[in-house]
Amino acid sequence: MPVKPIVCLLLCLLLCCPAAALAEEPVIYTEIEPHLVRYSFDLPQYSFVYVKFDTQNDAGSKVLYSGNGHFEGVCEAPGTFEEARLGLNVYTLGNRLLMQTKLTLEADASEQSPAAGLPAVAAANKVTDLALTYSPEGLHYRFSAPGRDSVILRCKSPQEWHRITLYADAGYRYEGVVPLPCTYPDDTVTVSILTPNSAPLYESSVLIPYHAPEAPQTLKSTELMGVVVCIDAGHQRTTQVETVQSGPNFVQTTTTTIGMAKGTETRRMESQVTLEIAMQLRNALLERGASVLMTREIQDTFVGMLDRSAIPNNAKADFVLRLHCNSRRSNPDVQGIEVYCPLSSSYAKQVADTDGYRLLGETLLRAMQKATGMPKGGCTLNDTYVGNNWSKMPSFLVEMGYMTNFEEDLLLSSPEYQQRLAQGMTQGIIEMARLRGLID
Ligand SMILES: [Zn+2]
Repeated sequence: MPVKPIVCLLLCLLLCCPAAALAEEPVIYTEIEPHLVRYSFDLPQYSFVYVKFDTQNDAGSKVLYSGNGHFEGVCEAPGTFEEARLGLNVYTLGNRLLMQTKLTLEADASEQSPAAGLPAVAAANKVTDLALTYSPEGLHYRFSAPGRDSVILRCKSPQEWHRITLYADAGYRYEGVVPLPCTYPDDTVTVSILTPNSAPLYESSVLIPYHAPEAPQTLKSTELMGVVVCIDAGHQRTTQVETVQSGPNFVQTTTTTIGMAKGTETRRMESQVTLEIAMQLRNALLERGASVLMTREIQDTFVGMLDRSAIPNNAKADFVLRLHCNSRRSNPDVQGIEVYCPLSSSYAKQVADTDGYRLLGETLLRAMQKATGMPKGGCTLNDTYVGNNWSKMPSFLVEMGYMTNFEEDLLLSSPEYQQRLAQGMTQGIIEMARLRGLID
């Protein structure tokens, strides 16, 4: 497509404030194409920002990361054909507005009419020959709607929505791709096809697939050679209620609680977020020479409470990390990393005494805090977690952040922050392996 870049100046709220106006004003640079706005800006004091845009027919929100304060991104507006207004806002991850701009998208007249010479046939009440598939480019659609020379395609996920007017080809066929760059893996996209008067012709949903990263082919170091780590990604898509003995020397039982965390802003499931971080952690450990076993590598599985310790026990793992995300609906301000160790389980007593376990847990916590920059959190010993109680090796339930906190919810789904968590836990394993005398 021919591009006529228009560099567009920004803003800004701060102009109203004479004191702030003395400081250098941040600027959003934009290049406008049909259905598309490329933007860039510099905010040297930030590593992560949250960008939202909207037009009458498209909207999206996305976390951006930058290692050097220079941010770049794209607003995809496949539904915005005419000279329409687009609002672009940049926030902190805490949802505080940093900068904003408004601009006008270019007209794209070539796409605004149905094919000529369409045969006169009765208008269908539903679409036929429908195929919906997903690739990294977006959602591919192909269908027929006899007698309908135009339809509306609506796609909606928790992070974005698009309302696109489509025009039929000479055979009343429709085919194309809707980009979904803001939508996370494992999100559900609701797809509706409507007449121009909004009468439904089709409605369904598509689950965006998650593809785990490949295992690394080369080592970065050999410092964890011979160390076996089990990673237990908390939960799974569907909860099954179980009641099990709470620990080897406990008479009481524990019944599964339904309480899986859900993202305040992302609307994501804890089970998917823990899986993504688990797969990054697996690779970070493999790169250091460790042997790694996983209790699960997919969402659609069932790993019972006792399986989650039987798997590392049977493999004689040296450590278990149980990855979870926290939730505190009553107070969305609460943030931080919490590490939980077993307290009075007879298996745990054979691993370390209370002080020894606390030292291990605090070592893990400090490594994670250093890698992530998250200062809040703590290390607690208790009898609450069945997986910890039944483990014959150092076992830690790690609540990596609160999905009920706006900022941590966004961070926990950011690949860059996930990588920081993985690196922090890997460093924690290295330091704990030294404390255990497993490595020099
Ligand atoms: Zn959990």
